Amino acid sequence: MIIVLKQNISESSKNEIKKFVTSKGYQIREIVGEDETVLGAVGSGSLDIREVELFEDVQKVIPISKPYKLASRQLKMADTIVKVKNVKIGGKRIVVIAGPCAIESREQIMSIASEVREAGAVMLRGGAFKPRTSPYSFQGLKEEGLKYLKEAGEKYEMPVTSEIVNPKDVEMMSHYIDMYQIGARNMQNFELLKAVGKQGMPVLLKRGMCATIEEWLMAAEYLMASGTDQVVLCERGIRTFETATRNTLDCSAIPVVQKMTHLPVIGDPSHATGMRDMVAPMSLALVSSGASGLIIEVHNNPKQALSDGPQSLYPSQFEKLMRDVEVLSPVVNKSLEKTPRILQPSLFKKEKVENSLKTIAYQGERGAYSELAVRRIFDESFGVLTCKTFSDVFDSILNGKAKYGVVPVENTLGGTIYDNVDLLLKNPEITVVGEQQVRIVHNLIGFEGSTLDRIKKVYSHPQGLSQCSEFLKNKLPLAEALPFFDTAGSVSYIKKLKDKSIAAIAGLPAAEYNGMSVLEEGIESNPLNYTRFYVICLNSDAEVWRSTSSLNKAALTFSVEDRPGCLYSSLEIFTKNEINMKKIESRPVPGKPWSYRFFIEVTFPKIENLKKIEKEMNESTHGYRVLGSFTQTV
Ligand code: PEP
Ligand code: MN
Repeated sequence: MIIVLKQNISESSKNEIKKFVTSKGYQIREIVGEDETVLGAVGSGSLDIREVELFEDVQKVIPISKPYKLASRQLKMADTIVKVKNVKIGGKRIVVIAGPCAIESREQIMSIASEVREAGAVMLRGGAFKPRTSPYSFQGLKEEGLKYLKEAGEKYEMPVTSEIVNPKDVEMMSHYIDMYQIGARNMQNFELLKAVGKQGMPVLLKRGMCATIEEWLMAAEYLMASGTDQVVLCERGIRTFETATRNTLDCSAIPVVQKMTHLPVIGDPSHATGMRDMVAPMSLALVSSGASGLIIEVHNNPKQALSDGPQSLYPSQFEKLMRDVEVLSPVVNKSLEKTPRILQPSLFKKEKVENSLKTIAYQGERGAYSELAVRRIFDESFGVLTCKTFSDVFDSILNGKAKYGVVPVENTLGGTIYDNVDLLLKNPEITVVGEQQVRIVHNLIGFEGSTLDRIKKVYSHPQGLSQCSEFLKNKLPLAEALPFFDTAGSVSYIKKLKDKSIAAIAGLPAAEYNGMSVLEEGIESNPLNYTRFYVICLNSDAEVWRSTSSLNKAALTFSVEDRPGCLYSSLEIFTKNEINMKKIESRPVPGKPWSYRFFIEVTFPKIENLKKIEKEMNESTHGYRVLGSFTQTV
């Protein structure tokens, strides 16, 4: 039953109710929601609802009609976000777990972990106990395998999951893994569910191959009743009369389950199909169906794999799939979680690191979208320097206050950010060494406990307000939209006002940095809103970046004479050298009215292609300069 408590109930009164209900043979879960606090009471005791309703501080008591109680949406309306170390599963995220079916050796799991991490997986999988159909098949490396899995997860900064098949291994496995996996064959192994649930750790619960959705949720209920609320469901295909695929992927289970439970649900296209060429299309189908993530088998040598080779993707296929998932996610109003491609601190080993050498400058306040880009590139050992203007970012690099800068150059809705292009053209001492894309997810941010119906004023940068116009029109028709000079700044501003009727629109880091609450996530009208940033530094500091990456993109500038065919003939030099033009803009030359220079971005197979054109470009254009060469990431 769900016991809805009156607002402002005292702790002692709440404890009294809990004591009474527990004494009748029930377990209690307290769920603190935005508007009300409820107690979920489950158990086999006998209790007349009226006895609970008699307590003064009880608003009402609602019986849970479903056989699954703790897992049901009736008990908890809001989506559960399962946290596996730093990875959050659920909500508006798409989370990808990848790795081999079975851990075969230390080298194998290390190599696969490195490849899936590079492609964007945020968790690593690998079986150590393999429940195989045949007793003669490879049964797994057991504890030795778990040691390698843990080592790989630590090295490549991914939490790890592995299947448990025997209740006696619960304690041993807890030292190696971050999330237990309960396999399809064990979904109704109730002793195993109870033992794993008791541990209180996150659990990935596969759907049994002959299980109905309700039976699957009852298995989740076992885990939850035993002591964990961190359960992720996984649709992995069910047994039907069809033999063309290993199982039949039940995509329609995803929206059904989401109505029935608050727990996140992900999909396993590898076991559902059994064949590698079907994994990519079914992954996209799962994301389209609303799955919160995928678990995918990847192997560095699938032909020699000791288990499930035919369904394991080659790392290159996985990488391509991740790019497709990233593009598809915004269509379903979600975004792919990626572990930042951190600049390896080892890059800096050779240098004497002083504070200014580990400082990154960006424009905006703490929590600005630029800071998101910074954190996708640089790890936490780097500090940040917030600047008022883009020009201040360039200056702080020139005067040695910061080693690197991160500045936006283009937005998919707004186009080129000319200020930064012009600053690059103006400052030949500064060069581009990298690019990074960030999806702009706007959130309505306010005070804890505030609700949409209370909001009377919303502050944000004019662009933030206009990009959320539909949300404002439909959900906050009476609220006044007020422009502010900066999105993150609007959050620190409203924080000072201490008024629950005021909210701001900004990115998640702004809410986190200011200790404010997200009242509604992802409120932008167009989810295909991305900003591309450049990483910039002094020419003299560029070598450390360029020497460690494969350069295949560059930003260039030149101008041409004012006569027919001049631009055409300079671009012909690109064609001859396999240089592909991605973008061209013309910018006015300061001090020379009505004359222009071009800002061009190009890609090429090898840096040698770019080096080769230098002489010819110098001869046929004016002021040819490479503004920076880097690795294409967008
Ligand atoms: C696995 O993930 O390797 C596995 C055995 O999956 P399932 O339990 O879904 O068959
Ligand atoms: Mn497998």
